[in-house]
Amino acid sequence: MFQEIIIPIIYLLSAVFFILGLKQLSHPRTAFKGNTTAAIGMLMAIIGTVIKTEIVSYDLIIIGLIVGGAVGVVFAKRVEMTSMPQLVALFNGFGGLSSLLVATAEVYKGSLPATFTLSTISLSILIGSITFSGSLVAFAKLQGLMRGSPLAFKGTQIFNGLLILAVIVMTVFSILNPDQLFDYFLWIIIFSLVIGYYFVVPIGGADMPVVIALLNSFSGLAAAATGFVIQNDALIISGALVGASGIILTNIMCKGMNRTIWNVLFVGIKVSTSTAEGVQKTAKSYEPEDTVVIFENAKQVIIVPGYGMAVAQAQHMCHELEKILEEKSVTVKYAIHPVAGRMPGHMNVLLAEANVAYDKLYDLDQINPEFEQTDVALVIGANDVVNPAARHDKSSPIYGMPILDVDKSQTVFVLKRSMNFGYAGIDNELFYKDNTIMIFGDAKDTVSRLVAELK
Ligand code: NDP
Repeated sequence: MFQEIIIPIIYLLSAVFFILGLKQLSHPRTAFKGNTTAAIGMLMAIIGTVIKTEIVSYDLIIIGLIVGGAVGVVFAKRVEMTSMPQLVALFNGFGGLSSLLVATAEVYKGSLPATFTLSTISLSILIGSITFSGSLVAFAKLQGLMRGSPLAFKGTQIFNGLLILAVIVMTVFSILNPDQLFDYFLWIIIFSLVIGYYFVVPIGGADMPVVIALLNSFSGLAAAATGFVIQNDALIISGALVGASGIILTNIMCKGMNRTIWNVLFVGIKVSTSTAEGVQKTAKSYEPEDTVVIFENAKQVIIVPGYGMAVAQAQHMCHELEKILEEKSVTVKYAIHPVAGRMPGHMNVLLAEANVAYDKLYDLDQINPEFEQTDVALVIGANDVVNPAARHDKSSPIYGMPILDVDKSQTVFVLKRSMNFGYAGIDNELFYKDNTIMIFGDAKDTVSRLVAELK
């Protein structure tokens, strides 16, 4: 009765907690609670699993919990906000590896699995291996251990298609000739790992955050397939939830960049590093101290954070600036582009860490109509997400990407270290506009100098 009734109830409750957690994670105000709710769900799922009578020895489980928990805490405490995509890539990879190992263990357990189970084992190994080797490549690219630019050979996609076919054929053979089960599955594992490698290798390092969101979804699907293998409801439900949320996130990221998932995976971003020949372009630049009068006379200032704010860790200083301006009766708002930074919600997380109130953060659609009535748009380490070329230049690789219309403000201050390009590798016409003033330097130093001067 314990096995048949209590454990399924625990699993069901854990699924309810996962779903509630996801709901809470969808808003910054409740996101912290959402993490806790989902963690309680995970604890329940673990308890439900370890009290199952199938467990032979608890020693290895306890060692695994201690070692895994310790590694997790150290990673979470030490990772820089800008290295978060790499960390997520590694975690996805570990998820894929777990599914791969659990499914493989079922093959080598001794008793011959049924036909349906063999197919789900094969599926679990295929998706788990792709997630594992693909995530390691994504990690290596983001960490600079592997060349970030596309490394494909002609026909990579066809090669991978043939390998998938080979996995299907091996699965059928394993069902027809159970005597050689181990050999067939060894090949299935090898082929699947190679598919994962060649799935991610051709994709440019710049597109890795989108790939990581997709691999996150894969890790969920692999877990769900493993759930069918070992008939574990909690794994099926949680895997399906991860799979679905990962796909939704991938879609949001693609939409924010005005690209399709097909384009990200199989075409890649067109990087153009040339500027129009023969056109002499000059950008004005000020020292932070020269801008104080403009800030003091402003009624509304909109701060536009981007990847450079994350690199400079300037979020706390931004909050200081916001407080000082408000003391001077200036209205301050933050404009958040959906793909500013290098991962979804990057800016929201950083600003929340600096205690910026959520109601000061505005989405692209909410804030764009306001720029025309704004005295100062303060662009802090953002580049592509404020490039007006996206609105009109059909030859631009970012054409069609929704952007923040900062150029419509009375004055635009752009804080960055140089005239270097952003992620898309293209020049930004905003920098040369009459109402734009560049303030060169590390964003944190520049905002600190501004704060000191305003004080
Ligand atoms: P960008 O990458 O376009 O530009 C960032 C700018 O920050 C650079 O031009 C750089 O200029 C500047 N910068 C870097 N370090 C500092 C520093 N210490 N102080 C001041 N400035 C600094 O960033 P955006 O946020 O505007 O755009 C994000 C891009 O990333 C988009 O193209 C988006 O499509 C892409 N992307 C986003 C994902 C997401 O989920 N958020 C996922 C995948 C891609 P300089 O070197 O001169 O200082």
